[in-house]
Amino acid sequence: MGRYLVTGGAGYVGSHTVLALRDRGEDVVVLDDLSKGHRAAVPQGVALVSGRCDDRAVLAEAFARGPFDAVLHFAALSLVGDSMREPLRYMAENLNTLAAVADATVKSGCRKLVMSSTAALFGFPERIPIDEQQGHAPVSPYGESKLMCEQALAWAERIHGLRYASLRYFNAAGADPEGRAGEDHDPETHLLPLAIDAALGKRPPLMVFGTDYPTPDGTGVRDYVHVTDLADAHLRVLPLLDTRSVRYNLGNGTGYSVREVMQAVERVGGRPVPHELGPRRQGDPAVLVASSALLRAETGWTPRFPALDDIVRTAWDWRVAHPQGYAGAKALAPA
Ligand code: UDP
Repeated sequence: MGRYLVTGGAGYVGSHTVLALRDRGEDVVVLDDLSKGHRAAVPQGVALVSGRCDDRAVLAEAFARGPFDAVLHFAALSLVGDSMREPLRYMAENLNTLAAVADATVKSGCRKLVMSSTAALFGFPERIPIDEQQGHAPVSPYGESKLMCEQALAWAERIHGLRYASLRYFNAAGADPEGRAGEDHDPETHLLPLAIDAALGKRPPLMVFGTDYPTPDGTGVRDYVHVTDLADAHLRVLPLLDTRSVRYNLGNGTGYSVREVMQAVERVGGRPVPHELGPRRQGDPAVLVASSALLRAETGWTPRFPALDDIVRTAWDWRVAHPQGYAGAKALAPA
């Protein structure tokens, strides 16, 4: 069994990865400032060090609970729209926290780090599906910040021998199939939770961002990948870090339009999704679909929940069971 430090482990993708590690019997320490994550998302038996990743004293406290076999770095600012309003904050904070965590990792004697990256690296893609050969041309400070982080890791590898995996997520969606964790952002900006809440009457009608894209039904097409499958990919890249660093695009390989997602919510929930048609959101490409052929070939990863209705069902079930999100959840006692 191993021991892993998970930054941002109280957040959406981080908490699902903590569950995957625990299900495998690993020891886990979570480092999270709880600015966006939730204490109740940290399961029993997992120690929580609460504080910022760029605070040396906090990092010292977290690494004192090592030694760690690897560090999984999820903590980051991750909203394209916010980054268009606060470009310098996004670029500085995401690079600073990655650099601080990578530096502490190397100094602790650990040489393995997995980082959350993003499809936003590719900007407006040259071709679909998007493989790793495509050029990087971010069209948002968020995408640029993750590109800088990947470049920083490449230098840390050359100079310090730090091996890293960078996983470029497409659209993470859904919730733990056993109902132990789910998606709870404040503010919520993502399509699926907003569509579910609109159907449940918990929020105003969904605003469809653009109906004039060059797609079959005019709405934006994205690659929705189940968050538990994303989590699994993190575990599968770990053995590769014994010998090399890797960068993988991580998605289902199938695109669904905004209208198709709304229809799936209607099928699963048995209720209409009240919605309004609006203009495009700035910076949104028409289509983003991943090729994860490289990840599949090199790790054997394959999604367990590739069907859109299954993704939607897990998200729907969690939302119905947690009408207040984590605010209504009983806080789990930290270890
Ligand atoms: N979208 C929408 N209305 C919303 C939120 C999102 O029409 O209130 C669309 C968005 O334009 C994109 C897709 O849904 O085509 C997924 O957006 P999301 O913000 O969930 O993820 P992103 O692709 O930006 O990472």
